[in-house]
Amino acid sequence: MSVVYLKLNFNISPIAPWRDVLIAALGEIGFESFENTDFGFQGYIQKSEFDLVLLNQLSLLKNKDIQVSWLVSEIQPQNWNETWENNFKPIKIGSDCIIRAHFHEKIEVKYDLIITPKMSFGTGHHETTRMMMSFLLETDCTEKTVLDMGTGTGVLAILADKKGAKNVLAVDFDQWCVENTNENLKLNQSRNILALKGSEVPKGGPYDLILANINRNVLMVQISDYAEQLNTGGHLIMSGFYNKDLNSIQECCASVHLKFIRNFEENNWVAASFSKQ
Ligand code: SAH
Repeated sequence: MSVVYLKLNFNISPIAPWRDVLIAALGEIGFESFENTDFGFQGYIQKSEFDLVLLNQLSLLKNKDIQVSWLVSEIQPQNWNETWENNFKPIKIGSDCIIRAHFHEKIEVKYDLIITPKMSFGTGHHETTRMMMSFLLETDCTEKTVLDMGTGTGVLAILADKKGAKNVLAVDFDQWCVENTNENLKLNQSRNILALKGSEVPKGGPYDLILANINRNVLMVQISDYAEQLNTGGHLIMSGFYNKDLNSIQECCASVHLKFIRNFEENNWVAASFSKQ
């Protein structure tokens, strides 16, 4: 658990529409999450991913009509736990699903997911996680073989398991996420999930369902592998990209015979589903 994060506190004027534009641009250079503030927002990125040259090259920072300033500070992993524990509230998705921490009171719902609020992405507080969960809630998982690429906390894999999946392979390139997923598998008594460290699509298919909530660039590289590893008639559900990227994602999918089904959108973030013809 040696991942060190940086917090960049951005002040931006005028805020509209530039806050959203800058957040979108930062999402493409490795920033993972954002919190709005009165004067702008805070962006979080792994220290090893941060590239000052890329940040300075953003055209928005050179635009004389927009004033942007930022302050950077380093966050040690233990602070993340405290932050999460203080801020983590149970989240309800649809009428059947709650994501909560072990220290929250249990509420009777069909799918009660317990996620330790550590720093892995995937607590239901992000639009993309919630949209992926909404897709999953309306997908029949019974006896399905599932791949969850970029599993984070394991939250999607855990829901697929609770919905009767035969087996789920949960993959993340961050060892800390794999450990956090294993912890969450125990808390949820998930029996049919295997969490592994990896950055490429495992060849262990074919899968009936592939979930991938990562980011535009990784998805564009991996879509052809998802297509190859899907059963005919199988489904691919993806998120982690903005509505402006939906066209490129659809084109990339069409080129490997994945048919677009539908998409959800929240705050410019998109989740989309496809099927293999
Ligand atoms: N599935 C969770 C987490 C999504 S965040 C949810 O829906 O909330 C994206 C995750 O993808 C992060 O945990 C990150 O570590 C992982 N990731 C990014 N690039 C990856 C790659 N090439 N291979 C595997 N995992 C990757």
